[in-house]
Amino acid sequence: YANPKFVEVSGYSLSEVIGKTPRILRSGEHGLELYRNLWQTIKAGQVWKGEVHNRRKDGTLYWEDSTITPVFDSEHKLVNFIAIKEDITTRKELEDAERDQRKLAEALRDTSTALNSTLNLDEVLDRVLENIEKVTPFDAAMVLMIKGHAVQKIRQSNNLEKAIHSGVTGNTQANLINVPILQEMRETRQPCLIPDTQGDPRWRAVPEMGWIRSFISAPVMIRGQVVGILNVLSGTRGFFTQAHAERLLAFASQVAVAMENAQLFERVHHLSVTDSLTELMNRRHFFEVSKIELERTHRYHRTLSVMMIDIDHFKTINDTHGHATGDLALREVAGRIKHSVRAIDVVARYGGEEFIVLMPETTIQEACQVAERVRKSVSDDPIEDNSVEVWATLSIGVAEMDGQNSDIDRIIRYADQALYAAKAAGRNRVESYRNP
Ligand code: GH3
Ligand code: MG
Ligand code: MG
Repeated sequence: YANPKFVEVSGYSLSEVIGKTPRILRSGEHGLELYRNLWQTIKAGQVWKGEVHNRRKDGTLYWEDSTITPVFDSEHKLVNFIAIKEDITTRKELEDAERDQRKLAEALRDTSTALNSTLNLDEVLDRVLENIEKVTPFDAAMVLMIKGHAVQKIRQSNNLEKAIHSGVTGNTQANLINVPILQEMRETRQPCLIPDTQGDPRWRAVPEMGWIRSFISAPVMIRGQVVGILNVLSGTRGFFTQAHAERLLAFASQVAVAMENAQLFERVHHLSVTDSLTELMNRRHFFEVSKIELERTHRYHRTLSVMMIDIDHFKTINDTHGHATGDLALREVAGRIKHSVRAIDVVARYGGEEFIVLMPETTIQEACQVAERVRKSVSDDPIEDNSVEVWATLSIGVAEMDGQNSDIDRIIRYADQALYAAKAAGRNRVESYRNP
């Protein structure tokens, strides 16, 4: 016997099930263990309780909560089983949704921890790639950055190279205007989901990208601006769903926070080590850097030289042309010094119109040649401020680290003495410190 509710839930009519075993409801979703345990229990005369995933006549699945009770006759012989079932499909679906939510929350907590464990932008971007898989599966993934109208790929999963072979991915820079999906996303600020790229008008087929069948793109937004894009790609049609797109968007908002933190940190760090007028290193940071350079030089028994640079009669330049032109002259001189030395040389603004350059692996003879180049770079060409020509000259003192001493203050004192000598000898010249 089966009651009308059973007929309603299972989709089988009474005549179809009478004489059959409950096996017709099996979904294939459970291991045999469940059924074995069920039969063992009830055949032993005990009550079995459990949740079973069953299949309706039309092939769809439903969940039921079952209580199966053995029935005995007066001689204690097992004659019937009564199964009391409750359709719990809705509850199960809610539980599943809740579990998915919980897993997503956990995944996002994990990714947030990973993303925020560094303030280095490069490392943040590495971690973005490492963590995307915690929110959605994919075949390949990439991170793009947007600056103005330019979109540039800055990270991609290793497998992407293999999947695409060449072509498009080699061309890491594109114009937003040419990529309608990205353009649309920048306006809607919503993720773009393409379940099947074939036949989707938004998808621009590029031969190298031919393998991509399913695609999601999510915007990374900082203060309402789309600054980056996360793309996940799959070679399987229909692979991505709206749920994946939403998860990727949630992840993208964490990426935005981590990126903004890293950018702010870089900005603050830059401000704290840079002279705002000349964009050179400031004096305080110069001492930090030079301490490390000197220790290394000392440890490996190498040498280094320092040059102190002072603009001649700068007060006169200020007095003649005004403070603003004076500022411009300082910036221009800073730039010419920087251009006259190597990239590994440490250039800093030491004081008002004084500069210092630390040159690793450089003897005093070599340093004097560099100093001469610096001097000429300023004396040979005027500084132009609109139509005004400002002629400036430099006095430079050079000193070399002596073998015994790795004390920056001492070398600076020597270079300063040489600079004083250059001033005394008539300015616009280079003098080197000689051990008395
Ligand atoms: P000397 O040849 O002996 O070095 O003469 P000088 O005039 O360059 O030397 P002094 O040290 O007497 O004057 C330096 C001047 O640099 C004084 C100061 O007003 C100016 N100065 C310092 N910092 C700045 C700045 O940031 N901007 C401008 N425009 N001038 C500055
Ligand atoms: Mg001075
Ligand atoms: Mg001066």
